[in-house]
Amino acid sequence: MFKSIMTSFTKKLIFTLFSLFFFLILHLLFTHHFTYPTQFSPALYPGLTILLLVLHLLIACLLFMRVYCDRKRFYLVAIASGFMGSALLMTGTLASFPAWFRHYATGIGNYNDAAIFMVFRHILLASMCCCTALFYALYSRIDGTITRLACFLLVISATVMLLALGYLYSSYNPLLSVTFIDEYSLSWQALWQNKIAYFMIAMWFVSLALIIHFSHLKNLLWLGLAILCVCNIGTLIIMLSDQQTNSLAWFFSRIFETVSTVLILLVLLCDVFQLYQRSYHKYQISYHNSLHDTLSGLYNRRFLFEHAQHALKSASAAKPVSFVLCDVDHFKRINDRYGHLQGDKVIQFIGQLLMNAVRSHDVAARTGGEEFVLLLNSTSNLNAMNIAHRILVQIAQQDPRTSQSALPEPVTLSMGVYTVTDGNCSVEECLERADKAMYRAKKEGRNRVVNYH
Ligand code: GH3
Ligand code: MG
Ligand code: MG
Repeated sequence: MFKSIMTSFTKKLIFTLFSLFFFLILHLLFTHHFTYPTQFSPALYPGLTILLLVLHLLIACLLFMRVYCDRKRFYLVAIASGFMGSALLMTGTLASFPAWFRHYATGIGNYNDAAIFMVFRHILLASMCCCTALFYALYSRIDGTITRLACFLLVISATVMLLALGYLYSSYNPLLSVTFIDEYSLSWQALWQNKIAYFMIAMWFVSLALIIHFSHLKNLLWLGLAILCVCNIGTLIIMLSDQQTNSLAWFFSRIFETVSTVLILLVLLCDVFQLYQRSYHKYQISYHNSLHDTLSGLYNRRFLFEHAQHALKSASAAKPVSFVLCDVDHFKRINDRYGHLQGDKVIQFIGQLLMNAVRSHDVAARTGGEEFVLLLNSTSNLNAMNIAHRILVQIAQQDPRTSQSALPEPVTLSMGVYTVTDGNCSVEECLERADKAMYRAKKEGRNRVVNYH
């Protein structure tokens, strides 16, 4: 609880510091504290636009993949659609300046179209940020397939509608028109200066407020989206500060937009990295669980069989493989007298003792209730018998005190040993022979080791 409050607090602190730093840079830019070049390279603006387009496409793909992999993050579909639409609108911006792609000529192009596409891009991204926050807030209600499909269609149709409006208002279509920039004087018009720019800034503020209110910036993704809002507010403030469209404001605004986009991309990459780390950790746990017995921590039957099949292939007189099958004597009595929980403790204790008795490249497995198998690689029959006897002695030395109450009373084992010296025996046959030897040990009075003949 405390940790989660701390992380949320840290994220809010990072966000506040970033915003303060960002607006300090804006202030310094306006008060001309920096000595920046009066003109940038003509390739910078189209270069940044192409970079931004590629980055927006990349972000949209990463977000869609995130939603596809984890349906709990369905709310991200809105912002993914926003970035996709933004990339498409940027192709319109590039098409407005055909001269960019000819002879390095600059300054020739349809500035009003570029402004229209930019306005629709901001409206689209800001509204999709709002949708993302709202979907997140209504998270528990958007859990059915139908509701999700409806939300998905809603954001896709809103994106398509804004794309269509961008196209319809541009000079590609004579039906609708709007003038943000005067094509002769290249100055921003009153509609932009007095209304649209403020409307877009207000939209970004609403998005920011919704994101902070609903998400509490609880993870990196939300932090990234909040930073995106702040950067876009800054971008618009820079653009509002200048009357002329061919001034440095366009460059600065695009640089800010690129910085915020790169930040979002980094956040997404961090998210993908965390996701990979978490799923790799889960995979390791489930892989471990698939090969181990949960009660004793020894290997399970499946691992024993896989390992034994492999070991038997190379078994020979020079490289014998020995199987030792162990069964706890009168175990039912322990369960009946002391209960199943105590019985489990006995199984755990004996499992640990068997594990410590073999080398790291041998296998100690629990194959049934109180039945264990030791697979001893490159171990002759004589050595396997010695190891089994040593284990019997070790168990005989244990009592409730030395076992720290794991054994409620002294316990004994019956063991059967079988050694393979050629590769002609299957795992099942080997275990059956060790089992027969173990049953002879039971018959002969228990607490002993019998070799298979
Ligand atoms: P024997 O000397 O002939 O082996 O006698 P036994 O009482 O050990 O007989 P048997 O091997 O048939 O008994 C096994 C008992 O182990 C029966 C079952 O209730 C108990 N058992 C099986 N799995 C578990 C387990 O996971 N935990 C506990 N506590 N008991 C188990
Ligand atoms: Mg038994
Ligand atoms: Mg048994």
